Amino acid sequence: MHTDIKSQFPGRSLKEFKSHGRGFWRDVSESDWNDWRWQLKNRITTLEQLQRLMPTLTPEEFAGTQLANQKLSLAITPYFFNLIDPADELCPIRRQMIPRVEETHAAPWEMSDPCGEDSHSPVPGLVHRYPDRVLFLVTDRCASYCRYCTRSRLVSNAAGYDFHPEFDKQIAYIEQHAEIRDVLLSGGDPLLFSDEKLEYLLSRLRAIPHVEFLRIGTRIPIFLPQRITPELCAMLKQFHPLFVSIHSNHPRELTVEVRDALGRLADAGIPLGNQAVLLKHVNDDVEIMGAQMQKLLMCRVKPYYLYQCDLIAGSAHLRASVRKGLEIMEALRGHTTGYAVPTYVIDAPGGGGKVPVSPEYVLSHNADRVMIRNYEGKIFEYPEAADGTPTFAAPKEIEEPELA
Ligand code: SF4
Repeated sequence: MHTDIKSQFPGRSLKEFKSHGRGFWRDVSESDWNDWRWQLKNRITTLEQLQRLMPTLTPEEFAGTQLANQKLSLAITPYFFNLIDPADELCPIRRQMIPRVEETHAAPWEMSDPCGEDSHSPVPGLVHRYPDRVLFLVTDRCASYCRYCTRSRLVSNAAGYDFHPEFDKQIAYIEQHAEIRDVLLSGGDPLLFSDEKLEYLLSRLRAIPHVEFLRIGTRIPIFLPQRITPELCAMLKQFHPLFVSIHSNHPRELTVEVRDALGRLADAGIPLGNQAVLLKHVNDDVEIMGAQMQKLLMCRVKPYYLYQCDLIAGSAHLRASVRKGLEIMEALRGHTTGYAVPTYVIDAPGGGGKVPVSPEYVLSHNADRVMIRNYEGKIFEYPEAADGTPTFAAPKEIEEPELA
């Protein structure tokens, strides 16, 4: 399939950095607005608040919000709420944040734990699925809740999971397993912790000699850029090598405030990657995804993974097809900067781990040659090389020339 770059990424306006300001909260002081704790205290969490701010709520959203507290709570920071276009039912931020009644329709192949995390958990809150790394879940709270969340069985505690991690037990497991060289802190969102609490955890992990590498998975820079304070960045800087994976799905999320927050993390020497989820009527579009990937680079973030949406119960209305994902990958590879191309993966249902899926570029392969196709659809032959230890002809002895 060959597609024309010029028609693919015309989205200049999608790449503009905008600030939505205080919007509905115009009477709030500048200092309150920029205070992350104020943002958390004033989140939209009830149907009444939502109706007042968004009189255009549809019957599906109304019914979904009524039921949200039995499944995955409703919570949206005022900052992020301002990104919603109330006049557009298909607004990409609205689709990700406002509950819909379809969340209660579960297909037989959908699951509450689609990545099989609970079955790979030797200690509560610790997932050890891959040989040399662990997922360290620190909290079940997030600044806002994504309606397609893979961990909706536990985050927000609406479904009664009662997540109570015991850090001492989680850390003891890591200490006892010398093969663990990489720890990913996630949840919920670790950056909801105070600087002091986070520093305590990171110090404990850094003190383990075989832990080489720390990561934090967070959506806070997107939901709550006010949290990325200079003090937080200075604290995180002590724990290098420390990488941060953010989660952003649409260029509208990359505002002036988010770009500045990500810049502060990057200035602290923290490599940044993005994990996006392919979502129907959010980002399942070549132009939107192209703009998103390029805009991430402008924010100093490398697009890391594009996830096929997990088979989370009640997510069918948000899941785009694998066909669409492959079409987007085909449109990115070769048509834009290689750094802007994420790895598209399906987390194998039930706990098989991430499986990369890609358009086919190797057409045939035998002992003598590989037939490959480039992004323009042109076909090339590459002669196959021999494997194994190279053998060299014995060096010829060079006779010393006779001196005259
Ligand atoms: S931020 Fe991450 S953990 Fe929290 S609700 Fe969204 S996807 Fe789930």
